[in-house]
Amino acid sequence: MKLWPFGRAREMTCAEEQAAASDYIDGTLPPTTLARMERHLAWCAPCSAFIATLRLTVTMVRSLPHQHAPRDLKQRVLRATQEKQE
Ligand SMILES: [Zn+2]
Repeated sequence: MKLWPFGRAREMTCAEEQAAASDYIDGTLPPTTLARMERHLAWCAPCSAFIATLRLTVTMVRSLPHQHAPRDLKQRVLRATQEKQE
C-alpha cells in the first residue's frame, strides 16, 4: 500500500474504484482496499450510483436461466474463422 503524503493511505480515485467494482461486489477485496473503497463511496455519488447499477445488473444476470449453446456451435465458429483466413 502506498502511503500518501504523511502516513495516510492515498484516497482512491474514481478510476481505481471502478476498476475494483466487480471484486467489491463479489466480496473479494483485501480489507485495506475495501476500507479505501468504502471511504470513497461515502462521498462520491457517481461511484455510489455506478456500484448500485452494477450490483443490480449482476443480480439480474445471475437470476437468468442458463442456456446451452447449440452442439455444433464450436465447429461452425472454427469453420467460419478458417474460411476467413483462406
Ligand atoms: Zn468516485
